[in-house]
Amino acid sequence: MNDPVYVTCTRTPLLEDYSSRLISIFNSAWFTNGGPCVQKLEIELREYLDIPFLLLCNNGTTALMLALQSAGLAGKKVALTPYTYVATLSALLWMGCTPVFVDVDSHNLCLSPELLRQAFLREPDIAGVVPVQVYGLPCDMERLAAECQEFGATLIYDAAQSFGSRYGGKSLLAYGDYSICSFHATKVFHTAEGGCIVCHSEEELSKLELARSFGHRDDTHIALGINAKLSELHAALGSLLLPGTEEEIEKRRNLVNAYDTSLSGLPLTHPVRTDGWNYAYYPVLLPDESFVALAIEALGNAKIYPRRYFYPSLNILNYLRPEWRAPCPVSEDAATRVLCLPLYGNMPLDVVERTAITLRAVIAQNDVTCA
Ligand SMILES: *Cc1c(COP(=O)(O)O)cnc(C)c1O
Repeated sequence: MNDPVYVTCTRTPLLEDYSSRLISIFNSAWFTNGGPCVQKLEIELREYLDIPFLLLCNNGTTALMLALQSAGLAGKKVALTPYTYVATLSALLWMGCTPVFVDVDSHNLCLSPELLRQAFLREPDIAGVVPVQVYGLPCDMERLAAECQEFGATLIYDAAQSFGSRYGGKSLLAYGDYSICSFHATKVFHTAEGGCIVCHSEEELSKLELARSFGHRDDTHIALGINAKLSELHAALGSLLLPGTEEEIEKRRNLVNAYDTSLSGLPLTHPVRTDGWNYAYYPVLLPDESFVALAIEALGNAKIYPRRYFYPSLNILNYLRPEWRAPCPVSEDAATRVLCLPLYGNMPLDVVERTAITLRAVIAQNDVTCA
């Protein structure tokens, strides 16, 4: 009988390698507060991404909160995509922002520039915009930047899924006034828990650095801060995993090609892809929600566990204030029909074939036709 297969599997370094890093950390007894491992990983990431102003954080959610705070968006009206992981919204709400949901475009499932323009015209006090490069694929980068510039809003990309993706000759993390990434264990590159903020000036970087560590230097208290520091234990893990990132992406690329071949002819669609993708997920949109349930059940019987990334569309969450709950039909529709199939570098190739066979059988038995 096959082992269970989950949507992802955390990439691990060799235990011996990590042990020797741990010995250094234990010998120095320096576990956090900008120790040598964090400094080293920050330098390595700036180099790898070719991004000069990058700061490590303890996770992607606090990174987004810090970016919002540093941009002066706390308590302001901020537009965001409803088609994302809930943390995008949580960060806004913890910062006291009023969320304005702007629906996505159906071809890329990213925040629609046209609908953003309409939102600006309707609500000129929208001070910031948080799109998500969902599945590590680019949004309509040029148009989003143009709309934000015209209406004087700060553009913060939630690039949590974009590590290793490139677009227009640079890392996707290099776009926007700020961008944030997550280094959670489920991401293409990770530090178990962790994340980073990217900004575009030395001045901004030192402001964020201060805010990351309680807003004080020694006994001088300068501004409101929080604790968003990454530990040495996490940073050491990151330095060991970073060099394997290209290989991880290459293995995923091969698996994605295998999925495409095995699933061809089925009534499935996926968001538009671009060159330079990091192959972070394998999302498929099924004809309707009932088929999603049948697929989950049939795959579950084969011990294959896909996830509904991203369901539900965040604009309908029940803890939102009623006045925040704008309809977003494209996002709501996609959220009910999407499934992310298992994908990670070391996934056995036969999972692709078993998944395809199962989905074909479900379709054949249930007479599903293309929507
Ligand atoms: C993973 C993720 C986050 C959260 O990052 P953490 O590091 O887990 O806090 C935020 N937004 C998106 C789009 C994500 O995928």
